[in-house]
Amino acid sequence: MSEIRQNPITGEWVVIAPERAKRGANTALRAAPAEIPNFLAACPFCPGNEAMSEEQFRVDGVKGGWSVRSVVNKFSVLSPTGDVVDPGCVPAGAMRVNGVGLHEVLVESPHHNATMALYPVPHLRRVLEAFQNRFLGFYSDPRVRHVIIFKNQGADAGASQQHPHSQIVGLPVVPGQVVDRLERSRRFFESTGQCLACSVLANELVQGCRIVAENSGYVAFIPHAALSPYHLWIFPKSHLPCFSGALQPARLAEILHVVLAKIHGMLNNPPFNLVIRSLGPEETDASHFHWYVAIVPRVNKRAGFELGTGMYINPSSPESCAQALREYSPDPEDA
Ligand SMILES: [Zn+2]
Ligand SMILES: [Zn+2]
Repeated sequence: MSEIRQNPITGEWVVIAPERAKRGANTALRAAPAEIPNFLAACPFCPGNEAMSEEQFRVDGVKGGWSVRSVVNKFSVLSPTGDVVDPGCVPAGAMRVNGVGLHEVLVESPHHNATMALYPVPHLRRVLEAFQNRFLGFYSDPRVRHVIIFKNQGADAGASQQHPHSQIVGLPVVPGQVVDRLERSRRFFESTGQCLACSVLANELVQGCRIVAENSGYVAFIPHAALSPYHLWIFPKSHLPCFSGALQPARLAEILHVVLAKIHGMLNNPPFNLVIRSLGPEETDASHFHWYVAIVPRVNKRAGFELGTGMYINPSSPESCAQALREYSPDPEDA
């Protein structure tokens, strides 16, 4: 029989139905990706084409050139100039501001065919430190109220450029989903005096069955109400609402490297999304919130049930997925 679970941090419900996997519609196996060149002359992010983008930040390369760059997104849906004003004329109860905001593409490597799962730990650390730099830079703009950092890896996860990159968006509003999660976190804190994420993490560490990896700063686990197969969270062990405060980039780079290499090897380089969920450095009235990283391999698709209910069907057991990832050792040639 299936089981219906709710995630206390997100409030989302999921039907855990591993029998569904037997239908064969969900399979982690896919054809080997086509050979991708190390350099593509027409790619706007490949070395030599720097003039095609407006650079905001760079980390120099060890042997000259650059190692990581952040550039203005040419196709941003938000305008970097102007003020946040209400143009007026909205239905009762609705809100409207003009589309002012910041949007950068963080080019993670000069190599067109590089992939985050296979970056050496020191390079992953440089990418994380670049995230931190841009995150704080965005929040220094008084028009920005919420910053999200995310990565779409592969066309099925929403990537439109093959060159390895992430994105950073500074919004002039706080998204409803963030407001809802903050509210859940606040209610839990007011009724128990504890951080909801800290107590979830403590419980996961005691149970152990959904842990994938752990080091001195971070724990990677599959939430008990994971919405899809191998949907994974990385929680910092120390309680902080903002990811830039005590990032411990070396520790985060280590655990990301381990987790991404496992996913890459076991699921054969799947498309995935990575999101850093954090509040800004100044949001002192939300000290109950706990920042984290979410990684969602795109191994099954949302359909009518999900759209119609806001609930999900996960055709896998979070405990089995965690055990498989925990026990999987990537090929040392790759990792
Ligand atoms: Zn390229
Ligand atoms: Zn906490």
